[in-house]
Amino acid sequence: MSGVPTTTEPIAFIDLAAQQARLGDRVEAAIHRVLEHGRFILGPEVADLEAQLAAYAGVRHVVTCASGTDALLMALLARGIGSGDAVIVPTFTFAATAEVVALVGATPVFADVLADTCNIDPAKLPAALHAARGAGVTPRAVIAVDLYGQPAEYDEIEAFCAEYDLWLVADAAQSFGATWRGRKAGAIGDVACTSFFPAKPLGCYGDGGAIFTDDEELAGVLRSLRVHGQGANKYDNVRVGLNGRLDTIQAAVLLEKLAIFGEEVAARDRVAQRYINALTGIVDVPSVRTEATTVWAQFTVTVDDRDEVAAALDDAGVPTAVYYPVPLHQQPAYVSYPTASDGLAVSERLATRVLSLPMHPYLDTDTQDRIVDAVRGAVGHGG
Ligand SMILES: *Cc1c(COP(=O)(O)O)cnc(C)c1O
Repeated sequence: MSGVPTTTEPIAFIDLAAQQARLGDRVEAAIHRVLEHGRFILGPEVADLEAQLAAYAGVRHVVTCASGTDALLMALLARGIGSGDAVIVPTFTFAATAEVVALVGATPVFADVLADTCNIDPAKLPAALHAARGAGVTPRAVIAVDLYGQPAEYDEIEAFCAEYDLWLVADAAQSFGATWRGRKAGAIGDVACTSFFPAKPLGCYGDGGAIFTDDEELAGVLRSLRVHGQGANKYDNVRVGLNGRLDTIQAAVLLEKLAIFGEEVAARDRVAQRYINALTGIVDVPSVRTEATTVWAQFTVTVDDRDEVAAALDDAGVPTAVYYPVPLHQQPAYVSYPTASDGLAVSERLATRVLSLPMHPYLDTDTQDRIVDAVRGAVGHGG
């Protein structure tokens, strides 16, 4: 903006090094404590983290696991969803949302999303239900995704699920820390799943995930599933499960990060509001429902000529990302699954227009001004 001498500093899309600097040696000390007690599998930090996550989200039970994908997979396994069953999912999401449905032998049925929030369009759910029945499979569940960190339209989704006796799974992989009518992500849905992949708002230093529920029986099944379907012990196998545990070292890392997470969520929101103020009228900025708060896992704008804009930003040293370039119903692995008969045009159009800008709690105002200037220039509003 004003010839600030930092213009050649590389810009991070997500700056985990800044977070590490903020945490100081607390993470290393936490990891060291695990090295000393040596309980690497389901050690005390895992139970401690589960209790703290449950308190944070306001749910009775949290079962941590090896990834967000395993969280979704274990939820479906725990519910007994499999061959002959259908699960309605948005097509504009990360592959894992539909992948787990196919992995358990059930049929993902793709529904379109809303053009402004990019979350599943509740008005398209009846057509998806119809498509499932038409394909000869029994609708059992809906997986709603809280894309970019904003909860889906849960009022209407919950009502739909109640009417048709469908199980509601919240894919909260991107939204831990967000709210819908004051309820935290994790406490929304019959079960909610999140991811601690490093780039998620609450990330560890590897893979990790968690499942949230108020249902004690379900929580018990989930705990069994993550240790090979164990009964009284690991060598008593009462169901088919998997090795789905979160490492103790990752739990120790997450406990330290959770301690500053509330401040980071607030900082993310400040960064996002600043982007919105500067970019409104330049590009289509994200819209947040009055019922919702978002955790800004991504700050995603929509633009015409997205690829040209991304290339111009790259030339200006501004990293961007496209989530997602191809909707799942157009992916080779998923083309043969049913889709809601009223089309998936919104998702197809979004896939050509979305562009995510650098977003993290430590994005300073000078760097953000450079990004904003570059966006103005890239879309032809530069001065
Ligand atoms: C990241 C993500 C997942 C999967 O989480 P992993 O921890 O990477 O397995 C699932 N769904 C959505 C929407 C995601 O963004």
